[in-house]
Amino acid sequence: MDFRLSRAEEHFREEVHDWLVANLPAGWGTPAFRKPEEPADKVRFARWWQRRLHEGGWAGLHWPREYGGRGASPMEQLLFAEEYTRIGAPSMIDIGVGPALVGPTLIHHGTEAQKHRFLPKILTGEEMWCQGFSEPNAGSDLAAVHTRAELRGDTFHVSGQKIWTSYARFAEWCILVTRTDFQAPKHRGITFLLVDMKTPGITIRPLVEMTGVAWFNEVFFDDVRVPRENVVGEVNGGWTIVITTLAHERSGSAPHARIQGEMRDILDLARRVGRDGQPAAADPRARQRLAQSFIETEILRGLAYKNVSEIMRNGQPGPEGSCLKLVWSEVDQRMKDLALDMQGPYGDLERGAPRAIDGGRWQYEYLWSRAASIYAGTSEVQRNIIAQRVLGLPRA
Ligand SMILES: Cc1cc2nc3c(=O)[nH]c(=O)nc-3n(C[C@H](O)[C@H](O)[C@H](O)COP(=O)(O)OP(=O)(O)OC[C@H]3O[C@@H](n4cnc5c(N)ncnc54)[C@H](O)[C@@H]3O)c2cc1C
Repeated sequence: MDFRLSRAEEHFREEVHDWLVANLPAGWGTPAFRKPEEPADKVRFARWWQRRLHEGGWAGLHWPREYGGRGASPMEQLLFAEEYTRIGAPSMIDIGVGPALVGPTLIHHGTEAQKHRFLPKILTGEEMWCQGFSEPNAGSDLAAVHTRAELRGDTFHVSGQKIWTSYARFAEWCILVTRTDFQAPKHRGITFLLVDMKTPGITIRPLVEMTGVAWFNEVFFDDVRVPRENVVGEVNGGWTIVITTLAHERSGSAPHARIQGEMRDILDLARRVGRDGQPAAADPRARQRLAQSFIETEILRGLAYKNVSEIMRNGQPGPEGSCLKLVWSEVDQRMKDLALDMQGPYGDLERGAPRAIDGGRWQYEYLWSRAASIYAGTSEVQRNIIAQRVLGLPRA
């Protein structure tokens, strides 16, 4: 693989850099800056920043131009992500699933009316989305969903429960996976709906995570009315749409960019913390682990570039994205283990404790990183996908 950039790609990278330097909100990108921490503050900020990106022509980077995007190639998306993280720009995750999952899904499978209605407001951050997929008895086995949608005339009546729905409290809309046929084989009785979260009959209960923050929610549907025009694809044909959404969720073109940024921060941490007057950076055991983390970060970068090549060849993310998801989530967790170990007993302090290093950022990130091998499909599920769909091994 040739890692050198073409002249046009170099130019693109410079353009991204210059725009970010001119537009980054005050404080971002400086080590001492305290980012918003509470979900409501984060979401408010994320909407504002999404609008700024849109005004600058950087929202929906990979979306086609006809739908308001920039039509960037997968390689340009990767360069954008690298430059974006290098400069310390705000995380894009807090805007919810609209730009990364809902937009691409609608572009691929939506009607023209749906594209026209929903895509512009995703780009501007005016409407946030949540992902109503998991249920108490349908997570890894998503096709087992039981939330019932019954078509009466031109209206679906939806009843059931979703769980682990991130952003549900803040979202205006939800992509909802429902069961419309209980007799058919489970993958054939599923319908993919777009649901207005203000519809009567929806109850949202926050769930507090082990980080102490409540991003998650339980969402209950009690005879919620959804117009038929809000079906994506065919009634009972929703599984194809689900696969598209999940492929976008798993492949995310450049996870290495964030991990590289964190590697830089961990190296900086290693120079500031230590034991017996010696920085961790000078301790042979910590040095071994730092070197290992650096190597894994570079492997991840190689995998991300390979993934981008595959997407450019096939036009769509495929099951190979599972390799990237598996590797980045596990590399991330090992890095956070190291960040806490280097702090010695300070690593036990809570976020916000007066003596916590960096305000307890690493404790929070250690706990949050545990989720990485669960969301968007657990590591076991990614291994199954790699075995069956990438390597072509038989089912056990
Ligand atoms: C931070 C976070 C955010 C999330 N946000 C959302 C969201 O916004 N919307 C949403 O719908 N969901 C969301 N989820 C839910 C997530 O998609 C599920 O937790 C995940 O799919 C696993 O499902 P489960 O929790 O039901 O576990 P289960 O499927 O019950 O799995 C339990 C264990 O069994 C293992 N297992 C299951 N099946 C197999 C198999 N076939 N082979 C081998 N091992 C197996 C799993 O790997 C796991 O270790 C989120 C989860 C997290 C952690």
